[in-house]
Amino acid sequence: MGVMRISHVSLSVMDIEASINHYVNVVGMYLTHKASDGTAFLKCWDEWDKYSVVLTPSDRASLNHVAYKVENDSDLDLFERRINEYGIKTEMAPRDALPFCGRALQFRLPSGQIMYLIAEKEYVGKAVGVLNPDPWPDDRHGAGANFLDHCLLVGELNPEKGINRVVDTSEFLKATMDFSLSEKMMYGPDASVLGGAFLFRGAKPHDIAIFGSTGPGFHHLSFFLEDWNAVRHAGDIMGKNRVDVESPPNRHGVTRGETIYFFDPNGIRNETFGGLGYPSYPDMPEITWTPETAPRAYFFHTLRPLESFATVFLPCS
Ligand code: FE
Repeated sequence: MGVMRISHVSLSVMDIEASINHYVNVVGMYLTHKASDGTAFLKCWDEWDKYSVVLTPSDRASLNHVAYKVENDSDLDLFERRINEYGIKTEMAPRDALPFCGRALQFRLPSGQIMYLIAEKEYVGKAVGVLNPDPWPDDRHGAGANFLDHCLLVGELNPEKGINRVVDTSEFLKATMDFSLSEKMMYGPDASVLGGAFLFRGAKPHDIAIFGSTGPGFHHLSFFLEDWNAVRHAGDIMGKNRVDVESPPNRHGVTRGETIYFFDPNGIRNETFGGLGYPSYPDMPEITWTPETAPRAYFFHTLRPLESFATVFLPCS
C-alpha cells in the first residue's frame, strides 16, 4: 500500500530533437513513443513502465509535473481523502488523461509544483527481460542510466516573512503520503531553519528532495547508475558529446551518492547518481547537516560552494 517510487518527470522543452538526442545518446534512455504533437516519451533500460521522462515541445523550458506511482488503484482514493483533509485540493483525472496511465490524482504541493499519483502505467518490460536476464542489455548506450531515481524541487524560503515551503512540503509529504525524512540541511545563525529536506518511501536515501530559495522551481531530475565506474563512464560520454557539465564526478555528503550534474540542451539540470549510499527505513534516525558544512554536504570533495547550484532553477507550470 502507498507510494512506491518516482514514476516520471514531465518537462516542456524548446528543441525537441536536440532534447531527444540528449536523453537517448547522453543519458542512455530509449524513445518509446512519439505523439502527433511531437511529445516524446522515454524510458531507461532497467525500467518496466512505458516512460519515466516526457518531453513536450514548447517555446520555453519548464517543469510540467512530477508523478509518483502508488501500489494499488484504491490507494488513489485514500490519498485523495487524506490530501483533501490536509487542506489541499485535488482533481482525479480520468484514465489516459496522462498518456498510457490509469486514473491520476493531481494536486499542487505546498512548494508550488504539480504532482500526480498514478497506480497504472502501460507495461513494456525491462530491456533485459525477466527470464534468466543478462546484467545489462547489448544495446546499452550513452551513460546507460538504469532508472530515474529522484527529483529535487525548489520552494520559497523566507524566514523573515515566516515562509518556509521546505517545511510545509516535507510535513505534507510525511503526513499524507507516509514519506520519511532521511537527511536535513539546517540554515540560519542557530541552525534552526530547515533549508533542505530529503525524503524517501522506498529503501533508498531519497525519492524526492526539496531546497529552499526564492520561489517554486525545479532543480534536477536524477538517473541511477550502478557504481563509481559508471559515473566516470558517464563523465566520458558527456565529454565526448560536449555536454554542459556543471559539476564533474564528485560525491555528495548528503546521501553519499556519487554524482555528476549537467544540463540538457534546454538548460534543464540532470544528475547521474551512483551507488545506493545506505538502506533507508522509517525508523532510521534523521541525519542533520549544519550551515557551516553546506559545501561539503553538497559536494564532499570540495570546500568551495558552487554558485550556480544554488541559483539556477527551472520554472514550473
Ligand atoms: Fe539529486
